[in-house]
Amino acid sequence: MVLATSDAHEPPPTVLTTREYRLPQANCPSCNSVGLQIGEVEYEVENFGPILMSVTSCGFCGFKHSDLFSLSSHEPTATSVKVASGEDLKIRIVRGNTATILAPELGASIQPGLNSEGFISNVEGVLARIEDILRFLARSLEGRRKHRADFVLGKIERARKGRLRLKLVLKDPFGNSTIISEKARKRRMSARELNRLKFGEQAIVARQRS
Ligand SMILES: [Zn+2]
Repeated sequence: MVLATSDAHEPPPTVLTTREYRLPQANCPSCNSVGLQIGEVEYEVENFGPILMSVTSCGFCGFKHSDLFSLSSHEPTATSVKVASGEDLKIRIVRGNTATILAPELGASIQPGLNSEGFISNVEGVLARIEDILRFLARSLEGRRKHRADFVLGKIERARKGRLRLKLVLKDPFGNSTIISEKARKRRMSARELNRLKFGEQAIVARQRS
């Protein structure tokens, strides 16, 4: 069984349960074939609680999508960590689908959206994702914008070697995300801050109802 691949070096969060099942009536969002496979793993994350990672896959076209939810915490939180050395690249990042990832020093962010993936990775893995997105975008850029993209790619390369200090921030209106490190800082987000985030308004409504 292949579930969320992790590129971290440290041992992963403890696996509590795993399940696999089929949705025989469900259509693949990519090729429309009928029948999807679901693999679920429940993890216990230290100082955070249980999380559920769910991977949906299609046996016909290879479509795959992963979702990650916290099974306990639902407070809107901003979690951040300062990355100052090569060792810090191994710090584990748990990203729920609803989280925005910000790297202010790089001027880069990953926004949640319809196709955004939940994942368990580490700082280096997050940098690799930002690099992939930027490389893809850079192909269609020209002139100053291309120059700017290349400049940021150079910064990411240095960061991936532990030679650039930077901060990673996860802003999650539903508290599905965390950073597993003693160095991580966590705080509750204000309504104004939530308003600026994708899905933030929904979090405010959910909070008013509860
Ligand atoms: Zn398919």
